[in-house]
Amino acid sequence: MDWSDIGRIVAHGDRDWLVEQVANGHLVRCEYGLYLKRVKGRVTADIRSPRIAKCTFHDGSSGCTIAATRRPATCNFYVCESAFEEGTKSGAAREVDSARKVHDDLVNTFVSWDAELTQRIRTNWPEGPPYDAAFFDWLGEAFVELRARA
Ligand code: SF4
Repeated sequence: MDWSDIGRIVAHGDRDWLVEQVANGHLVRCEYGLYLKRVKGRVTADIRSPRIAKCTFHDGSSGCTIAATRRPATCNFYVCESAFEEGTKSGAAREVDSARKVHDDLVNTFVSWDAELTQRIRTNWPEGPPYDAAFFDWLGEAFVELRARA
């Protein structure tokens, strides 16, 4: 979960949820923002299926348990190359081309937002950000500002 993802979550009004998830260890501080804790469990409802490392927010029987507004952009928007290839093979080449363009624009936008936010965070908190409510509020405001400029 990169800085822009965190800012986006705050902009959706879920700052307190972030504070809670950091406190309970589901979201863990890292160099680029927060990472989603990995836990061992089944990814299907079948109790015979193997237990594997998966995202802490994934439930074996129902999939992702958090709202789209709380997920990283990658979870919401990323389209893998195989999906594009499948679309092309099934005769939707034009739609695939436009989907690829939208996808690439989104990726570039989020990458540039993350670079900008990283720079601002390093300037404001050279020892590292505090991950408290005030910091998340700052990040939410910075994200809204960058989004308005896009
Ligand atoms: S979609 Fe949900 S369960 Fe899957 S990685 Fe993203 S947050 Fe975790």
